[in-house]
Amino acid sequence: MGTVVISVDAALGWNCTDGQPPSVERAAAARSGWRRILELFESYEISATWAVVGHLLLEDCDGVHEHHPLAPARFAREREAWAERPELRHARELVEATVDSPADHELAFLPFSGVEFGHDDVSLDLARAECVGFFDALPDSLPAPRTAAFPGNAVGHRGVLAEWGFEYYRCAVPDASSSFPLANSARRLANATISGPPIVRPAIDEYGLVGVPTSVDFARFDGTAGWLSGRAIADPGIATIERGLDRVADSGGVLHVRLRPADVVDERDAARIREMCAAIDRAREAGVEVATVEAVAERARSEPPSTWSYPTT
Ligand SMILES: [Zn+2]
Repeated sequence: MGTVVISVDAALGWNCTDGQPPSVERAAAARSGWRRILELFESYEISATWAVVGHLLLEDCDGVHEHHPLAPARFAREREAWAERPELRHARELVEATVDSPADHELAFLPFSGVEFGHDDVSLDLARAECVGFFDALPDSLPAPRTAAFPGNAVGHRGVLAEWGFEYYRCAVPDASSSFPLANSARRLANATISGPPIVRPAIDEYGLVGVPTSVDFARFDGTAGWLSGRAIADPGIATIERGLDRVADSGGVLHVRLRPADVVDERDAARIREMCAAIDRAREAGVEVATVEAVAERARSEPPSTWSYPTT
């Protein structure tokens, strides 16, 4: 029996793509996108793994963060352009709504200010500071995450994750470049539309962490992947998901789909997410189950190590 896993990366204003923050409009729209996704997942009873940038857990801040190694520069936006835009910087109530949802979502980690751990210039101290920031911001009322995600799927500093008690993480499909997530995502999606997305399996690493690779990025980007929004008769994103669901229904494994609230800015985007949910709902009748990263990773860890591998195509 196959499994579909949905990962949502919630970052709002902390969502950097190729080092550039999103437009204020897109970041602000991500709040309504977040709620739309929650509503749809609730109505289709789809539980997902929500990776949340740690800073969003704060109810407020002064934009100083003096103990952070990249302060004050990294937080300059908070004191300047975003000084009057707390909705781009904080989202405690959205995280609480996510955790409280009857869909039974998993809360997962994204670094405190969205630092990309996989970059060569990210030091051990910086990675640790991003973990400290996350857990300092996490209120007692919310569960401590066991799953970590990386901005842009750029995996790095897994030893630091192990220090902090994480057990699972999301990664890219092996051999996929994580250096150019936008171009790579668009190229892979183009290939995936024809042959179907990679079907993945969790694998344990040298730290004892279980990595769950991502099959497909369901993003609709302006520009690079803007064609997705377009004029094709069949939406290639939906077609890709449907192919992947067929494959896991036939032969098992995990279809792991990644998306972001910032990708849901208008009714058309919301309709695409609804279509994806409906496709997943139909696949359930063919025996496909919906699970979180934590659930599939936990299950993988209980299986004999000889069964752990990366047959990803
Ligand atoms: Zn702050």
